[in-house]
Order: sequence, then C-alpha cells, then structure tokens
Amino acid sequence: MQNLCMMCGKCCKSITTNYSLDELKQMAEQGSEEARVFIEVFKPYKSVEDAKKAQPGQVEQILRELGQSEDFDINKVTFYYCPNLGEDNKCGIYEQRPECCRRAPTGPWACMPPGCGFEGWQFEEREKIKRKVRKLKEYLITAEAIAENGMVPGKDMSVEELRKIIDEKIKPWKKFGAFLW
Ligand code: SF4
Ligand code: SF4
Repeated sequence: MQNLCMMCGKCCKSITTNYSLDELKQMAEQGSEEARVFIEVFKPYKSVEDAKKAQPGQVEQILRELGQSEDFDINKVTFYYCPNLGEDNKCGIYEQRPECCRRAPTGPWACMPPGCGFEGWQFEEREKIKRKVRKLKEYLITAEAIAENGMVPGKDMSVEELRKIIDEKIKPWKKFGAFLW
C-alpha cells in the first residue's frame, strides 16, 4: 500500500482497541507481546470525555464508526495518546514503533481520524468490496430466477446451497452493513 500519511499526527493522539484496558492487562499477563507493548507505549486518557476534550471531533467520529459494530460496548472503550509523538508530528521511536503503528491503517474500515491522508484509499477499497458483494447478490438473484426444481442450472448445486455459500462470503462485511448494499 502506498504511504499516504500527511503526518498530521491525529491518529497518534486518539488510539483505541477492541479490548478494554483490563482485558489488555490480562492478555499481557498471559504472554501477549502485542498487548504488553501496547500498554507500555500508549498512555490512557482518564475517560472518554477527556479524550473528546483533547481531540474534539476525532474521538466522536471513531465512536460513531465503532458504534456500527454489533459487539460495540462503550464501557469497554478507552482512548490513548502516544507520548512519543514530537511537536513536529514525527514519531520519536520510528524504527522501534509498535506493530500496530506499522500496520495502520489495517484496512478500508479502520477508524482513521477525519482528514487522514488514507481517506481516499479507504473509500476506494470500500467501494471495491461493495461492488463484489453486489455481484454476489446479483448472481444469487439470477440463480433463483432461473432455478429448475430448486437446482441451479449447469451446477451440481441447489439454490439453498448456493445461498449459504454466498452468505458465508458476505458475512465478514456484515458488520459494515453488507446486507444493505
Ligand atoms: S491520521 Fe492519517 S495522515 Fe494523520 S498521521 Fe495518522 S495516518 Fe498520517
Ligand atoms: S509510536 Fe510513533 S507512530 Fe506509533 S503512535 Fe507513537 S508517535 Fe505515532
């Protein structure tokens, strides 16, 4: 992926994970290196409200995006900032930065702050996935329309089996609204 970072530094000031701080601590105790590094490098804001005050707009946007997920639980959410970000928005530990920083953004739906240089890339990638999902749905609708005795013509497969296969393919995108595309 092309590096589209404009070094605004916003993502280093509004970091969050799918796990609560307690869960991260537990994971670190159980040997997770990623959790250990995360706790060591990033500093938690005292509350979500504090994070909102420090990074207005940005924290709200992240919460909105996270809220679309079925398993979202506001009580689990902690925001962090990184003390290694310099005043010039450069990373003070660039060569040793954690894996999560190297991988960001992890995908088209990764929560990035408004105005992030990856916004356009994320939009294009989302659209590509939406197009694929639509094609699968169209394929199923066509198969249903031309089915003979519940079987897909030319395939050794029932429409029901095909529906299950297509549902499975669409499933990873369900939490992003795939069943409405
Ligand atoms: S928010 Fe986006 S553009 Fe800004 S520093 Fe992070 S990755 Fe770069
Ligand atoms: S380690 Fe560097 S890249 Fe990662 S959040 Fe901190 S300043 Fe940003």
